Amino acid sequence: MDPAKRASVGARSEVREDAQLEEQVKDWLRYGEDLGLGPYYRDRPSLHAIAAAASASVESHNVATSSAVSASVPAAMAAAAPGRASGTPINVAPSPSASQKSAPASTILPATAPSLFESIERIEGDTLPRIREDIGDCTRCKLHKGRTKIVFGTGNPNADLMFVGEGPGRDEDLSGEPFVGRAGKLLTDMIKAMGLERADVYIANVVKCRPPENRLPEKDEIATCSPFLMRQIDAIKPKVICTLGSCSAQTLLQTAQGISKLRGEWFDFRGTKLMPTYHPAYLLRNPAAKPEVWKDLQKVMAVLGLQPKKR
Ligand code: SF4
Repeated sequence: MDPAKRASVGARSEVREDAQLEEQVKDWLRYGEDLGLGPYYRDRPSLHAIAAAASASVESHNVATSSAVSASVPAAMAAAAPGRASGTPINVAPSPSASQKSAPASTILPATAPSLFESIERIEGDTLPRIREDIGDCTRCKLHKGRTKIVFGTGNPNADLMFVGEGPGRDEDLSGEPFVGRAGKLLTDMIKAMGLERADVYIANVVKCRPPENRLPEKDEIATCSPFLMRQIDAIKPKVICTLGSCSAQTLLQTAQGISKLRGEWFDFRGTKLMPTYHPAYLLRNPAAKPEVWKDLQKVMAVLGLQPKKR
């Protein structure tokens, strides 16, 4: 065969091989889609997230078969609902939300974008007192100008469950304690309804100084302060993080998705299960959302093996 002919045959065979390879890749992608793996290969979460999702699906089966999520709000949480007698159960419409339809309750979803905290190294042997010492009389961001007290966080340093809110309000700023106003009272009721005491859990915020006029923390303030929260999470090593409201969920998951889309789903946050739910302050304004929060808390309880407090 002359050299020109040989080159032409070689080129045709390369094209055939490329086409075969392309078909094989397409088959694999179709196979992945069929298995529901689309988001994983597109978003490329860490292998850890995939492993966590796999183990969660096993747990999800166990949880689903061992404890059904109750559709009524416990008395303590229901008490603030207008027009209802204290202790009256609030029934939940049986139809799940759109987000719940798309994934089983205990499926762990990867964080929706590479985390702000991915690059933050864990500090070996870090402790809460050391983190508080490092914060000092902080002036790292502009929130220091209006604060009375830094609200570091409070609770059990070995807690299995950690709640994360957005930032201190007026009462918290004055007392130096997170969640002490009306929203704090409701959070305490929520914790009790889960069969726990406030001292059993750890409570912290994304930013540690009060934003003026109770506005949401701004991006630069979050970016400056939240590494301290990250260190708190690493030091406490909770089994579950429950974020309260949109700011904390969006910060930890690095997403712009609204809380109504995020709540009720499990996410993986650097190896820890994370459940977003509504902020107690929102529940004070919208008590009709309490049953949804109670459903979220029951998912947390199922993972932690907690029984609701007996009435
Ligand atoms: S919000 Fe955080 S970073 Fe800003 S001044 Fe307060 S402690 Fe420092």
